[in-house]
Amino acid sequence: MSPAADSATLSCAECARPYSADDLARFGVVLICPDCKNGYVQKLREGVAPAARAHFAGFWVRFVAYLIDGIILMVIGSIVQFAMIGSLSPFRQPQPGTSPDVVLGAMAGLVAVVFLVDMVIGCSYEAFFVSSSLCATPGKLALELKVVRPDGARLSLGRAVGRYFAKRLNMLTVGVGYIMAGFDSENRGLHDLICDTRVVRRQG
Ligand SMILES: [Zn+2]
Repeated sequence: MSPAADSATLSCAECARPYSADDLARFGVVLICPDCKNGYVQKLREGVAPAARAHFAGFWVRFVAYLIDGIILMVIGSIVQFAMIGSLSPFRQPQPGTSPDVVLGAMAGLVAVVFLVDMVIGCSYEAFFVSSSLCATPGKLALELKVVRPDGARLSLGRAVGRYFAKRLNMLTVGVGYIMAGFDSENRGLHDLICDTRVVRRQG
């Protein structure tokens, strides 16, 4: 079995090895490879099978959702920044003879404002959509994912805001916090661990 990243390749919910759809046996929403099948059936009999295993959204589907949200935020951000920089244009053309310190200070101020505006937009977008009845940003909605508490409940606005900042923390880990979602048994990224949240597939 080639582990080539063929689009038709799925993975076993038990061992996570890649298989073609034809080789996997379906148990509800859970796909199991021939090697794991007997063990899984045994676990089902004993009532200990992690039936919700395939319910958690893996790294790649979340990555695509992240890209979609990133594009949407980039468009919103560009429009807002464009409008803002337009309104600040008197500062962009310093008068001749203005001290370089003043010009540099104005530029640093502008960068800080751009950064802050970007954060406010990102935080509002994420917190509003995730704590709404959709439980998902448009990117996650497009991929039929949602963000919930371990018991499936919706996030409060405060927790959704906290989750946004926990994600910013992921940036400090150079993305390792995100990649963790690919390895955790419940596909939790660092931000999910901090905020006690899960990203799951919408059902029905
Ligand atoms: Zn397997």
